[in-house]
Formats: sequence, C-alpha cells, structure tokens
Amino acid sequence: MRYGAGRPGWHVKAEHCRSLDARRLQRDGWLRPGASCVWGWRNGDGESTGSISLLAEADALRLSYTLNGEPTTRRVPILRSACHYGGARSWFACPTCGTRVAILYLRRAFACRKCSHVAYASQSEDDLGRAWRKQWKAEAKLDEHWRRPKGMHESTHAKLLAVILECEQRRDAALFDFAARHFPHLMPEGF
Ligand SMILES: [Zn+2]
Repeated sequence: MRYGAGRPGWHVKAEHCRSLDARRLQRDGWLRPGASCVWGWRNGDGESTGSISLLAEADALRLSYTLNGEPTTRRVPILRSACHYGGARSWFACPTCGTRVAILYLRRAFACRKCSHVAYASQSEDDLGRAWRKQWKAEAKLDEHWRRPKGMHESTHAKLLAVILECEQRRDAALFDFAARHFPHLMPEGF
C-alpha cells in the first residue's frame, strides 16, 4: 500500500467543496423570492470546478446544473425560521432525508452531509473497483515489474505505464475519501 503517496489534499478537497450554504446565499440576497444567479465553484488553484444556476422561489430554490454530462434540475425546499432579533433565517430541507440543514453537498445529487457520505461511500467503492480492474488489464500486457515485453513498442509501454499510474492516483483519492469520512479530525484545515 503506497499510503498517502505524494498526493496533495486539495485535489480531492476541492471536489468535496461543491456545496451550497443557505447562510451565505441568504446573506448575499440570493434566497429572496425571484432572485437568480449563477454560482461557481473553484479549487485551491482558482480553477473552475463547476457552476450552477439558482432561482429562488417563496419556499424553494430551483437548481439547474450539469452532472456527469447530464443537465439536471432540482427543487430544494427552503425553510425559514424566525430569528431572536427579528428577520428570518433560511435553511434547506435535505432532498433525501428531509432534515433541516444549512449546507447541501453535491455528489451524486445535492444532499445533507450525512446523506452525501452514503453517496461518497458507494462512489468511492465504484471508483476503487474500476481503477483496480483497469490496472490489472494494463499489467496483464506487461512483463514482471511492469517491464516492457519483447516486441512491444516504447510508446505502447509508456501509455500502459501512464494508465497504471493514473489508476494508482485514483485509488489514493479513494483512500483520501475514506479517511475523510472516518477520520475527519485528521483532515487538512477547512476540509
Ligand atoms: Zn439528508
């Protein structure tokens, strides 16, 4: 096991950061009925990791986004609770379990932290299985210790090595997911 093999945490962290925070959206005025905006996410390097169109209704937020190439629209209920000092505070109702929450996370769909961890778990396992199968297929074409078999072109060998490396990196990411779920207190700050 190449535990933590040289993978900076932010790479996976950025993916996990695709979330909507009702407090922040309310503060910026985007939960007022009729308000609409495009909300973008960025990773630690400032690169875009996705965006979403928001349209606020009286009791719901309409979301339009693309997930894995599929255009998707969702309607998330907005709950409003009175504040001690006047005004109202907005919350989301988790589309999966109905719990009142401030933050929804996007993984397979928008859901509260608890429900999206269930989605992480199955997605990480899928990723892990796919990465292993792909790696075995590549390794089967090579000699022992990933050496180039006689007669194989250098460039083919290089391509297969790149496939194996990518699979290893994907497994590292899945491992990071696992650690984040089970040992959140050990994760980088802000995770
Ligand atoms: Zn939930």
